[in-house]
Amino acid sequence: MANQRQDLAHQLSRRLVNDHDLIVVENLKVAHMSRRPKPRPNGKGGFDPNGARAKAGLNRSIADAGWGMLRSMLVYKAEDAGRELIAVDPRHTSTRCASCGHTESENRVSQAIFRCRRCGHRDHADVNAARNILRAGRAQRASARAGSGN
Ligand SMILES: [Zn+2]
Repeated sequence: MANQRQDLAHQLSRRLVNDHDLIVVENLKVAHMSRRPKPRPNGKGGFDPNGARAKAGLNRSIADAGWGMLRSMLVYKAEDAGRELIAVDPRHTSTRCASCGHTESENRVSQAIFRCRRCGHRDHADVNAARNILRAGRAQRASARAGSGN
């Protein structure tokens, strides 16, 4: 399992670096996100919901994707190949409409479905988020260039 994951991360990072001059990732704190949510005692001998179930799904998908490993492979392969790798602030990337910019948590209908409550734009939620991440990376790159005078 670990070997397969590593092979997959090698292949994917190689393909991304070969095919793209600019790669933008969310600046996720992987260790933090993988931590178990703390139980919240409610003072009545029980526990309030702490998002453990949602987090378990997220933890699993992060683990499955080997995100930390993929990311470190991307960093060194991009550097070797002279590609640009930019990390952007992950806030709102999954709830902002890539079409009109409207940001609302209800836009994210489910893990897979994004539907903008303002303009009706529909997309796979990951694709919508990816467009936001790419746009943020391009904006970050443009302002860095403007700042350095190039
Ligand atoms: Zn919209």
